[in-house]
Amino acid sequence: MSKVSIGFRGWRFDEDEVFDEDGDYRSFEEMGDDASARLRRLPTLMDRPCDACYLVHGEDYEARNTPAAVYGEPRAEVLLCDAHEVDFYYWFLEDGGEQYRGTEELQEAFREWFADGERAPEWYDGPEHVATDPAETPDPDVPDPEIQNVELPEDEQAGIDLRPEIDADDLDVELDAEYPTADE
Ligand SMILES: [Zn+2]
Repeated sequence: MSKVSIGFRGWRFDEDEVFDEDGDYRSFEEMGDDASARLRRLPTLMDRPCDACYLVHGEDYEARNTPAAVYGEPRAEVLLCDAHEVDFYYWFLEDGGEQYRGTEELQEAFREWFADGERAPEWYDGPEHVATDPAETPDPDVPDPEIQNVELPEDEQAGIDLRPEIDADDLDVELDAEYPTADE
C-alpha cells in the first residue's frame, strides 16, 4: 500500500484508504478516523500562514510565506514554509521535539522553542523532499479525479512516463498475419 501526500508535505495517507480504484476520493465514512480527520482539516490549513513566519512577522502578510508542509495532529498541527521546515526538523530530530510525536503538545512545544529564538544551525540541511504545490490542494468534499497533486513514489512516476512506442507499420503487419482479411 503506497503512501501519498495531499496538498502539503508531511501528512501521509494510505492511497487505497483515501482513493478508490478510479482515483476518486472515497467518502469520509469509508476512511479510518485519522485519515478522515486530517483530510477534513486540509482546506482550513490552506488559509493559514507558516507558524514560524507568523511568529516572526505577525500580521505582516507580505512577509509571511505560504506553508509547504504540515506535521502533528489535526487541530494541533504545525504548518511550515520551506525555509522553516528545516528548523522544525532540527527541533524534532536533534533538539528534543520527538518526545511530542503523536501528541497535541507538539504544536505548542515547537512554537515555544522557535519563539525563544532557537533555530537550526547553518550546517543543518534537513531531509530532502519532492516539492508539491499547496495551491493545488483539492477540497475533499468535491472529488476531482483530474487533480494531479498526489505525490507518487518515484518508481510509479517513472512507470507513467514509460509508454511503449508503437510503430504503426509494425502493428499493421502483425494484424495482417494473425487476422487475414476477407479478400485472402
Ligand atoms: Zn516560514
